Order: sequence, then C-alpha cells, then structure tokens
Amino acid sequence: MERQPQTVRVDQDGRRDHRLSRPTSSTNQRRMTLALRVLGIGPGDEVVVPANTFVATVEAIVLVGARPRFADVDPDTLLMTADTMKAAATPATRAAIVVHLYGQMADVDDLARGATELRIALLEDAAQAHGARWHSARAGSLGRVGCFSFYPGKNLGAFGDAGAVVTSDSALAERLRSLRDHGTASGGRYQHEVLGTNSRLDSLQAVVLTVKLRRLDGWNARRRRLVDHYRRLLDPELVQLVDQRPESQPVHHLAVARVRNRDQVREILVNKGIGTRIHYPTPCHQLPPYTRFSHVPLPVTESAAREILSLPLHPHMAERDVERVSATLTAAVLEARSS
Ligand SMILES: *Cc1c(COP(=O)(O)O)cnc(C)c1O
Repeated sequence: MERQPQTVRVDQDGRRDHRLSRPTSSTNQRRMTLALRVLGIGPGDEVVVPANTFVATVEAIVLVGARPRFADVDPDTLLMTADTMKAAATPATRAAIVVHLYGQMADVDDLARGATELRIALLEDAAQAHGARWHSARAGSLGRVGCFSFYPGKNLGAFGDAGAVVTSDSALAERLRSLRDHGTASGGRYQHEVLGTNSRLDSLQAVVLTVKLRRLDGWNARRRRLVDHYRRLLDPELVQLVDQRPESQPVHHLAVARVRNRDQVREILVNKGIGTRIHYPTPCHQLPPYTRFSHVPLPVTESAAREILSLPLHPHMAERDVERVSATLTAAVLEARSS
C-alpha cells in the first residue's frame, strides 16, 4: 500500500486541529529542527549529513545543539550513500539525514540498512522531492521522519513560507503536533508540558497547497519528460546530467548537469539570454558557520561544486525551449574548450 507523503488540511481557527492527519509546520528548516528534537537529538550528539545540500539541513542540526558530521556523495548521483554515511559516522552519531537533492532519490534501502547497523535514526530531507518514489514508496515515507519545504520555488510551493513533517510513528506525530503549538498537551489548551514553539502552518498557505497538491503528479511528470528530452539531446561527452537510480522515479526539482569550464560556459549562456544557477556554489562544510565541523576533505563534493550547473527547468517550459538550451549549451561547452 502506498503511503502518501503529506496531507495538508486547513486549520480553521489557526490552532492545532486534531483532524490533521499529519503534523504540519512552517518552513522546512524549522520542522527539521522539531524532527531532531522529538528524536531526542541535542547537545553532545552528532548527525551525519551530506555536505552537498542546501544549508538549511545543516542549520537544523546546529540549532538543536548537535554537531553535523559531513558525508561525501556518490560521483554519479551526487547524493549520500550508505558507504559515505558510514565513513562519516562516529560513536557519537545518533542520526543521519538523507537529502533527496535535485528531486533524485538516494538509495534509501541501503541507507536504511546502514542506519540499522549503526543503530542510528534515518531522517529524510525531501524538500526538493515532493512526490518522488523509491520503488513504490514516496519520498518522506521511508525514514523515521520526513521533512518537506513548501517554499514558493519548490515542486509544491505555497504563496509564502510553509513546510511539513511526516511520520508513520503516531507517538512521534503526537509530540511533533505538541511542539509546533507551544508544547501544548494533547487535549488541553493552555496545558504546556514541554518547551515548544509556534511552527503552525498558516491556513491560507494550507488552502493554496491543498489546491496545488492535486496538480503535483502532473507537473512532476512534465518535469520528467523535459529532463528526458535534455538527456536525449545532450552529448554525455560534453555535458553529464546527474544520474538517476533505476529504482527511483525522480521529480527533478532541478536539472543539474556537470560541465568543464563551468563559469565560462555560464557566461557564454548568459550572453545568449539563457540563465542558469548553481546549486550550490559552496558545499556546506566550507561555509563560514560550519567550517569548525569539517574534519576531512570531501573530494567528490568539492570537485562537483566546480562543475555543477542547473539548467532551465519548469513544468511550463516547452520542448523547443529545451532544444534551444541544449543546442546553445553544447556550442558553449565547445567554445569554452577551444578558447
Ligand atoms: C528549500 C530547502 C530547505 C529549506 O526549506 P525552508 O522552507 O526554506 O526552511 C531545506 N533543505 C533543502 C534540500 C531545500 O532545498
């Protein structure tokens, strides 16, 4: 049976709503902090996290007082693997956060086995992977806890900031609902038994998300068709699109490619009216607030950071846009090579 990644319902009076089938909260990073807290992770604990991620994943670990242990990534998918997770773990490690970056699924089977061996909890950062599947299971349903962001630019975006935590563990869900609403005890308004916070989902955002959720699978299918088109048009000798695992159905939050002379290629593209981005230019272990947690070089992450390039991708793009980008990109790579 398929487990759904999230159910977002309108919280009519802006307060906790017992009909909410899953806990919801504002912003991805804040709900990741709550997820770590309900798992009892805090000062003295370590959490393994890939350095190739958006900074918010790492921020949450530091905000609960724990220490991030940075893991390297697989050279083809640029995602954390069981091996890179194990290499980063120490006896103080209590959890690992797998990030399904770019909308690609990491090998959750292997990671779950590795986490069991290490006796640590596996959390999922699915902020870029709404609706992605590993075999038939949806992103966010495979770890103890899964976290989503509904930042407007995500595959499922609100009209402002929003996020959700999902879990199949009803005891954890109950504690999450309490924490996101000022630590209110179940059944008792103004009974605050634990230190909580206000991380409720705004009702207006919930309305927007409820309507857009119905369209999500269609938009994701469109993203897959466009990336398949890129894959057909781009010569892997010149432009390598980040790999996807055969067990997975990715949702391509981003179409990330690796190219040599990346900065020069980008400049040529800009001059031809094609905007690209880099996700992310500095790996997290090299960002100033986190260098103190960086102990070993992460060669795959560091070399990828010099080559990654996010190509234009949006469900409303046309096939001919992909064709124009592919042709211009191919010419730019050749031009950068010969100069
Ligand atoms: C967007 C994003 C987040 C942060 O979400 P917010 O809602 O901005 O807190 C966390 N992790 C990843 C991988 C993201 O892409």
